[in-house]
Amino acid sequence: MKIVMIGSGYVGLVSGVCFADFGHEVVCVDKNPAKMEILARGEVPIYEPGLQDVLTRNLQAGRLTFSTDLAAAVGGADVVFIAVGTPARRGDGHADITYVMDAAGEIGKALTKYTVVVTKSTVPVGTNRKVLAVLRKNTSIDVDVVSNPEFLREGAAIDDFMRPDRVIMGVESARAKAVMRKVYHPLIQCGIPIVFTNSESAEMVKYAANAFLATKITFINEIARLCEHTGADIAAVSRGMGLDGRITEKFLHAGPGYGGSCFPKDTAALVRIGQDNAVPMQIIETVIKVNDEIKHRMIDKVVGLCGGSVAGKTIVVLGVTFKPNTDDMREAPSLTLVPALAAGGADVRIVDPQGRKEGAVLLGDAAWYEDPYAAADGADAVVILTEWDMFCALDLARLVAGMRRARMADLRNIYNPKTCFAAGFEAYVAVGCAPLARGNPVGAPV
Ligand code: NAD
Repeated sequence: MKIVMIGSGYVGLVSGVCFADFGHEVVCVDKNPAKMEILARGEVPIYEPGLQDVLTRNLQAGRLTFSTDLAAAVGGADVVFIAVGTPARRGDGHADITYVMDAAGEIGKALTKYTVVVTKSTVPVGTNRKVLAVLRKNTSIDVDVVSNPEFLREGAAIDDFMRPDRVIMGVESARAKAVMRKVYHPLIQCGIPIVFTNSESAEMVKYAANAFLATKITFINEIARLCEHTGADIAAVSRGMGLDGRITEKFLHAGPGYGGSCFPKDTAALVRIGQDNAVPMQIIETVIKVNDEIKHRMIDKVVGLCGGSVAGKTIVVLGVTFKPNTDDMREAPSLTLVPALAAGGADVRIVDPQGRKEGAVLLGDAAWYEDPYAAADGADAVVILTEWDMFCALDLARLVAGMRRARMADLRNIYNPKTCFAAGFEAYVAVGCAPLARGNPVGAPV
């Protein structure tokens, strides 16, 4: 099949190269010429494990090309995917579907034969009908629209795309359904469940799933706070809850609040969809508020660890991307914490294996280090904010050896406080257990 992918960001690029790997002929299109040049050379402009190999393989096989010419790519295609961004609209939280609608208009003008246009971007309920209307306004050629939301996770995107839990398709014509079966044939062959439904349901599945996961994270973070005030240990509580087969352990790790390119904007958009339909999304409204408070509470934790003020202190932040194995900084907790520490008078040093390109722009004049031990030399506190592998097995004694004051804020609950004290840390704070100084409770929980 001839597939065109409009938008070659995290989702479009991964989807495009994976469809090529399924054996389809794929053209990835993007408005950004610099990005297309990099890709055409066989290089990957984002950090995503495994992506380089699949890209190289399919470029060499001649199944994958890159272009900025949407019209040339779309003419003659069997299926055109729209995978452009749908950021939160400034000011009101609505999903901004301008890029989707613009792409639909351009696609409509370029169609030369019956084509299935598939929306992969996350779009508010009702958008696919609007996409169809725009297409029909711009062409008299027969066209069908399918809603096919994407669930891949950055950092595990290739695996998620090749072996998804399910594929959701809002499709209302038998002809388009047959085409989509061909597109996803390799997954259907492996027994991956495919849910065919109408476009509104497909659109809703995506928002409901992301809002549910954001709620689960926020729930455990709120329980973590209660643990801090009651002497309960969140690690045991998460494990005890997660072993319940109805709950499961996933998304039950307490931390500094969710961020990223999806949960914040999708929860905000769901609230707006509720308002538009006079159905208040009260749970999600609360989740957004609580998550924001949690991010700010991390500031209090670090300030408390430093004795009530970070002025004049050197603080090392380990990890600034919103999660490990991605270079994506969108809505990362670091965007709240690092500026607050700097505003409080701290000298902030950052170590992140992939975050520097974006982070250097977003995080002001923090100093960037490659090596956590070099960064900790002369520091007053270390804050673990993103659980990159390289921060999960640190030589703690070596870290302590160079520090002026050996204090740790372990905001991903990676280390055991006893291990930290044995290595020489004088104070330790995590999420969901009381702050400790060499084994004794210290200060008030925040
Ligand atoms: P992104 O910002 O990384 O990429 C979007 C790309 O689209 C950009 O490169 C931009 O230049 C391009 N673009 C915009 N308009 C265009 C046009 N008319 N023609 C050609 N290119 C155009 O976005 P993303 O993170 O890949 O997200 C895309 C969509 O997928 C969003 O709706 C998002 O919510 C959804 N989604 C994202 C993820 C994720 O993990 N990032 C997961 C699931 C779903």
